[in-house]
Amino acid sequence: MSEHFAEFYQRSIDDRDGFWAEQAELIDWQQKPSQICDYSHPPFARWFVGGVTNLCHNAVDRHLATRSDQNALIAVSTETNTEKTYTYKELHTEVSRMAAVLQALGVEKGDRVQIYMPMIAEACFAMLACVRLGAIHTVVFGGFASGALASRIDDAQPKVIISADAGSRGGRVVAYKPLLDEALKQSTHQPAAVLMVNRGLAEMPMSAGRDHDWAALRAQHLDAQVECVWVESTHPSYILYTSGTTGKPKGVQRDTGGYTVALAASMPHIFDAQAGQTFFCTSDIGWVVGHSYIIYAPLIAGMATVMYEGLPIRPDAGIWWSLVEKYKVTHMFSAPTAIRVLKKHEAEHLTRYDISSLKALWLAGEPLDEPTAAWISAAIKKPIVDNYWQTETGWPIMTLCNGVEPQSTRFGSPGKAVYGYNVKLIDDATGQELTEPNQKGVLAMEGPLPPGCMQTVWRDDQRFINTYWKSIPGRLVYSTFDWGIRDADGYYFILGRTDDVINVAGHRLGTREIEEVISSHAQVAEVAVVGVADSLKGQVALAFAVVRDANVVADEASCKNLEADVMKLVDSALGAVARPQRVLFVTALPKTRSGKLLRRALQAVAEGRDPGDLSTMEDPAALAQVQSRL
Ligand code: ATP
Ligand code: MG
Repeated sequence: MSEHFAEFYQRSIDDRDGFWAEQAELIDWQQKPSQICDYSHPPFARWFVGGVTNLCHNAVDRHLATRSDQNALIAVSTETNTEKTYTYKELHTEVSRMAAVLQALGVEKGDRVQIYMPMIAEACFAMLACVRLGAIHTVVFGGFASGALASRIDDAQPKVIISADAGSRGGRVVAYKPLLDEALKQSTHQPAAVLMVNRGLAEMPMSAGRDHDWAALRAQHLDAQVECVWVESTHPSYILYTSGTTGKPKGVQRDTGGYTVALAASMPHIFDAQAGQTFFCTSDIGWVVGHSYIIYAPLIAGMATVMYEGLPIRPDAGIWWSLVEKYKVTHMFSAPTAIRVLKKHEAEHLTRYDISSLKALWLAGEPLDEPTAAWISAAIKKPIVDNYWQTETGWPIMTLCNGVEPQSTRFGSPGKAVYGYNVKLIDDATGQELTEPNQKGVLAMEGPLPPGCMQTVWRDDQRFINTYWKSIPGRLVYSTFDWGIRDADGYYFILGRTDDVINVAGHRLGTREIEEVISSHAQVAEVAVVGVADSLKGQVALAFAVVRDANVVADEASCKNLEADVMKLVDSALGAVARPQRVLFVTALPKTRSGKLLRRALQAVAEGRDPGDLSTMEDPAALAQVQSRL
């Protein structure tokens, strides 16, 4: 395709239905939609009304006629040292068996099935089997413990829970079954059945009558033929909870037809990807990036997808790149947090392998700071493409759609608004749209949100309206709760979350801007800046910096020197008004399991408040360390 992106984008907004009617041709429908978008009840958008389809059919069955012997799923674990490849035909067989087992356990269209699993092939079968039956899956990140699991069980009320004996991280086995059993003690809702995959890693106490062994049931359904259950386009495909970086996770409900079309369209337009190529997304199926770009989009496109269990640095920092060589990966998708992990190791690990098959590396999930982007770009000598999105949207809001028209990257910017997204910058005080270049505002979207975006908050339409569509006075627009600016060429820059702005003696400062400056200091590996209540100034900024040399943290004199040095740097870059009141040095920062900074917890601890829901937190010791520094 050769077209100017600007025209392509404009058409998606001006001729919305015509544009998406064309994209809808990319997937199979049992019955074609009679209406492209029903927006008669804003902000609820119903996409491809009257259309009848099935997500599993589009990801698997559709390819059997043309590519049944091509690779579909490549499951690699450096935790158990196993690698297994499934062709489309084999994937179809395994998904059919899983679907037959779920049917035998009573799962029907509309039932919820919770998937609490490590990154193993069976998790992929489970997701596909659910949507094959029209059941609604809700994947819970395998690293979460009982509390997070229990609240999601009560919210989604699954009929069946699928789990495994254990996950493994850095060689340490984490038994899942005791965590699941504890969650089921805490939750009010109880599933009718629990299906357990036994990897032989940990004890798996079974509760008679409720718990079932996958291997035993699979053996009874080896020849299963389970037809796809065709569902209305607007039928929910899954529920996925947001990361919980800013508060209580929200149950994002996604449709079927809109999501399938959005992902199908994203492959040629955003990723310039084609059937027969190989996609390697290093995320986890517990996150939205994993749903969309480990499982569904590559399969819808007829590609092979790599599913990886393990650390990016074990056995060494070359592991991902060795897989690129081995499986001739063409598209790689990861997160800045993972690249920062690699950055602590020698770049030679990455260059040991022949990665000539790779076209580009896409990164998403959090701000891609310039030093990290520059480092990885120099190390692998491939284009680095930032993309900005949310669990709510299911696919990128901003990036460079290089499949439509190759465009140059600007470090620090995730690119331009993607087709379908009517992005606006809004002055949060007046509600007015900001149309001049380089004005800072809240990133918002005019409804309807494009196909693939959330339909509503699971069982809570009112929360959907109130949370997302009512934050800007006098206007019904979707707020991303992120700040941004747009330059004269349409490139956006994300300036942090709207609750990250601090007010120091009447000056509104974005913590992200201060962080950018501090992270450019040679001795700082990572930094978080939060606003802390101050009786005199309203708020003051506190900076928590992870130092490259951990010895500095223990040495008071070095800390003092470095603190003065960092303050000087902020003074010269942003002015004394932005200077943090203190710069405290630590060896780790509190993060969510998806690798995002938990500023709300940092701020709470700094203000002596209860840090709130920590069920999605990675490492409680990091928060304790912060506390000890105050
Ligand atoms: P919650 O909404 O529950 O507080 P969360 O916002 O962290 O959690 P996600 O949907 O996983 O949950 O994250 C989306 C957010 O991540 C975006 O709103 C933005 O703040 C940040 N983000 C994602 N990608 C990028 C990117 N490329 N650049 C900058 N920020 C990004
Ligand atoms: Mg969010």
